[in-house]
Amino acid sequence: MSMQGPRTAEWFERARANLVNGVSSGFRYLGDEDTLVIDRGQGGYVWDMDGNRYIDLQCAWGPIILGHADPFVTEAVVTAAREGTTFAMTQRREVEAAEAVLKAIKWADRIRFTNTGTEATMHAIRLARGWGGRDLIVKFEGHYHGAHDYVLFTTAGAPPAHLGSRLRPIPYQVSSGIPDAIRSFVRTLPFNDIEALQDLFDDHGHEIAAVIVEPACGNAFGILPESGFLEAIRRLCSEYEAVMILDEVKTGFRFGIGGGAETFGVTPDIATYAKSLGNGFPVAAIALGADMVEGWQLGGIAQAGTFSGNGVASAAAIATLDRLTTTDAYDRIEKVGRALMEGIQRILVEYGVEGQVLGHPSMFGIFFGDGRPTEYRDLAGHDARLYTAMVDGMIRRGVMPCIDGREPWFTCASHTMEDVAVILEAMSDALVEALARAGSLPSHLDEAE
Ligand code: PMP
Repeated sequence: MSMQGPRTAEWFERARANLVNGVSSGFRYLGDEDTLVIDRGQGGYVWDMDGNRYIDLQCAWGPIILGHADPFVTEAVVTAAREGTTFAMTQRREVEAAEAVLKAIKWADRIRFTNTGTEATMHAIRLARGWGGRDLIVKFEGHYHGAHDYVLFTTAGAPPAHLGSRLRPIPYQVSSGIPDAIRSFVRTLPFNDIEALQDLFDDHGHEIAAVIVEPACGNAFGILPESGFLEAIRRLCSEYEAVMILDEVKTGFRFGIGGGAETFGVTPDIATYAKSLGNGFPVAAIALGADMVEGWQLGGIAQAGTFSGNGVASAAAIATLDRLTTTDAYDRIEKVGRALMEGIQRILVEYGVEGQVLGHPSMFGIFFGDGRPTEYRDLAGHDARLYTAMVDGMIRRGVMPCIDGREPWFTCASHTMEDVAVILEAMSDALVEALARAGSLPSHLDEAE
């Protein structure tokens, strides 16, 4: 049965007639009958073209941290738009936004703005390579760092059976169109595996330009770093003069105002920010420690962007950071997220479903399988069929996490404890339905029905 009501189906037809597969980002296409068209969003809710309301647990895959159409941010953006947006010169709001970012994250010396996470990581990698005069990049399995050629290896779409041995992993290229040569500049490693990391540095430490890492697996169930892992990256990068790039595109301004760096007590050389920085407006940043700034100021390493630091993006960042620092937004996100994580774990226990809720209250995943995954390879045992059937049932009940279980659930400051009750009830009912359909409903529930 299609997810689309009649008006949504009509609109998706129009979308398909004009946009390739009806979408502007490949990940959004869920098939001709299940890709929704959204009319509007407000606070913690979105509405499709048929007027169906959903509690939004996708939060645009991260950016919506305050809630959709936050009035304070909207007002700031409208005012900025009235005063002109892009000038080919540094502008007042850009300076104010940079001050606000540096004050929030604390550890960095300077930033540069970009528009998207992809641009930020692409420039961060070029800077690291230009700084150290080395080419090799280390990334972790299941981590996503944007849509450019440097990093599309062993992201969360890669089949775990094709990744080779843990100590000698094979980088899995996830797209056509990337020159073969690029692959030779990338090494992939299992997340949370200090031994594999140490091994690679022992063999190739002086060839490594940078290690790029998400502080938590924001594109693979929200798996958190084990104690000592990020510290090991920091230590080895310092020892071998490689650059540590912390990709905070999902965690930045979401795990708290200081992002993953603050949460896990690690100081990178470069970090990349995007999503929650603008509460839905395209604004991103590359943040740099003092050494990196010095290297960059010498010149010769290109970074550019016509729209970077534009007035609307800057206004969105200033207003979002203002709300995040002067209201109880993080307390609300934490309260709702924690209640959801605990409630979901209770439901799994009650229904005898093997599984774990993983991650942070602002960004967590539900793994249906044995044990507690600490890295991408552990996710091979996830029961994606059961998960998808459950989320399908939740969406039909007006609650919308991403249908793909690798993408975490996101909470925002507009979600309420009333929403939590509705979400848990919808999940509970949808899970019972999915288990019954799979013929694996526990007997105590069978009798109750
Ligand atoms: N890094 C991480 C950790 C991400 O999750 C993403 C997007 N999901 C990106 C980079 C790329 O950001 P964007 O889509 O804004 O280009």
